[in-house]
Amino acid sequence: MDFTVSDKMQTIIEMMDEFVEKELIPMEPMFFTQSFREMLPELNEKRQMVRQMELWAPQHPPEYGGMGLDLVEFGLVSESLGRCPLGHYVFGCHAPDAGNIEILHLYGTDEQKEKYLKPLVAGEIRSCFSMTEVDLPGSNPVMMDTTAVKDGDDYVINGQKWYTTAADRAKFAIVMAVTNPEAPPYLRASMVIVPTDTPGFNLVRNISVMGHEGDDWASHAEILYQSCRVPQKNLLGPEGHGFVIAQERLGPGRIHHCMRWIGICNRAFGLMCSRALTRTISPDKTLASKQIIQSWIAESAADIQAAKLMVLHAAWKMQNLGLKEAREEISLIKFFVAGVLQKVVDRALQVHGGLGMTDDTILSHFYRFERAARIYDGVDEVHKISVARRILREYEAKAVQ
Ligand SMILES: Cc1cc2nc3c(=O)[nH]c(=O)nc-3n(C[C@H](O)[C@H](O)[C@H](O)COP(=O)(O)OP(=O)(O)OC[C@H]3O[C@@H](n4cnc5c(N)ncnc54)[C@H](O)[C@@H]3O)c2cc1C
Repeated sequence: MDFTVSDKMQTIIEMMDEFVEKELIPMEPMFFTQSFREMLPELNEKRQMVRQMELWAPQHPPEYGGMGLDLVEFGLVSESLGRCPLGHYVFGCHAPDAGNIEILHLYGTDEQKEKYLKPLVAGEIRSCFSMTEVDLPGSNPVMMDTTAVKDGDDYVINGQKWYTTAADRAKFAIVMAVTNPEAPPYLRASMVIVPTDTPGFNLVRNISVMGHEGDDWASHAEILYQSCRVPQKNLLGPEGHGFVIAQERLGPGRIHHCMRWIGICNRAFGLMCSRALTRTISPDKTLASKQIIQSWIAESAADIQAAKLMVLHAAWKMQNLGLKEAREEISLIKFFVAGVLQKVVDRALQVHGGLGMTDDTILSHFYRFERAARIYDGVDEVHKISVARRILREYEAKAVQ
């Protein structure tokens, strides 16, 4: 396999690294003292700088104003931007808009592309994705109570969702709802575009997560859909294909998240090494002289390297052989990299001692908000079960022969 990074990509990554270092990391303390909304004027200025550098929307289609990078290239970009929690937002490639852009591009009608996709890629509006329900298992989303029932030319949506990330001040939601209750489980639900100013779209609250309600893009909402009426032309893709489209959304999304987590690991690793070298723990010794710390450093370096190679391989396989062929690799990276992320951030925090618990470094932010990596886009256990089942089936087949 050729691991060479092209000159073009090398230049792009160097430009992004420098921008993250000089423009975004200095903004991080604002995260702890201001609401996201208060940060928006400055964030918009940074976004403007990114547009001028022609680095806006790296993986989105060029015909809509993106750079059109492929999945492996975007993986490398995601690693660079992931070092700062503001990176993806400022470069216009943040979740959940990134996933919504992909499915609007693949399945949207011309009208939907004009109305929703164009301004979304341009960063003029935001969106959210509303699938998980309060009272039913998100890990088995075919169990779904939300319905979209046809009435005249409309769908009328009723249901209660939560963890709809970034719903606060989003322009529209892509809602998963049951449209075909009599169909087989995986063909019951559809995706419907719901503008958030539609009567019956009720944002109940931004859920407090790890002590933070958050706001705007940095939030997770509970939403009550009450007789929420939208035209049938707001259906995204074929009726009953909600889960098929969701899989297409989640495949590349998992690669994006995993590479972003590698970026976080790199940042935490850098902080861990710097602290170990400068923290004196006895008159003539620093933490870096201790074997246990050296062991954490070596183990973290190996974990990060292994994780990165696995993700790039999964991205390469998906890009060249398709989502179906890469399914196992995607499940493997989803739980493996989430575990590496947790381990590396935890070790870095431990090396910082009491300082690690404070908000004087970014580590506490990573510790609080990235724990969710093992939960969203498929909980660890479900990915492990699906990988193990496939492996066991192969062994079973061999045993029968
Ligand atoms: C930060 C964050 C952002 C999110 N953003 C969104 C979003 O934008 N839109 C959206 O729709 N949803 C979103 N979610 C919801 C997320 O997709 C669900 O939380 C996830 O699918 C798990 O569902 P659940 O919370 O209902 O847990 P459950 O399904 O109740 O599972 C609970 C636990 O049970 C265990 N478990 C589950 N299934 C199995 C199994 N088969 N075998 C063994 N153990 C099992 C796992 O340990 C799991 O953590 C987000 C969640 C978080 C935390």
